[in-house]
Amino acid sequence: MVLPKPPLKGACLCGSVQITVTAPPLLTLACHCRDCQKLCASAYSLTTMFPSNSFSCTGDLTKGGLASNGRTHYFCTSCLNFVFSRIGGANQRINLRTSVLDDAASFEPFVELMTDEKMPWASVPAVHSFARFPETLEELQVLMDDYSKQ
Ligand SMILES: [Zn+2]
Ligand SMILES: [Zn+2]
Repeated sequence: MVLPKPPLKGACLCGSVQITVTAPPLLTLACHCRDCQKLCASAYSLTTMFPSNSFSCTGDLTKGGLASNGRTHYFCTSCLNFVFSRIGGANQRINLRTSVLDDAASFEPFVELMTDEKMPWASVPAVHSFARFPETLEELQVLMDDYSKQ
């Protein structure tokens, strides 16, 4: 797997929100849950996880989505494009919507989640597949370790 070298750049649909990431990704995910389908108006969501301290963002953001389980979802105030999420209790990481990255196509999903709720025709080339969410931080760490070895 050849990933573009940081710093990585990206923008929302209208360009008002610009993002920069100075570290390589920790993990790439596709989530097939019903919430992600609705939130992304698509078959699944695409996430690229980065260390929070490597992520910076300019432009005006507003919160959207359900804000459940300590999850905060940020959208561009101008075009309302979904940009990233912060997960309560995991402040050291941010979940960037992969499509926002300039080089989005390079960040193919390594893990897919919630295949229990997958649309039957939707498929991604993930190496690891989970019927639900990984239960523990240890499980997530194993995935991140595996991803970093690629
Ligand atoms: Zn925008
Ligand atoms: Zn989901």
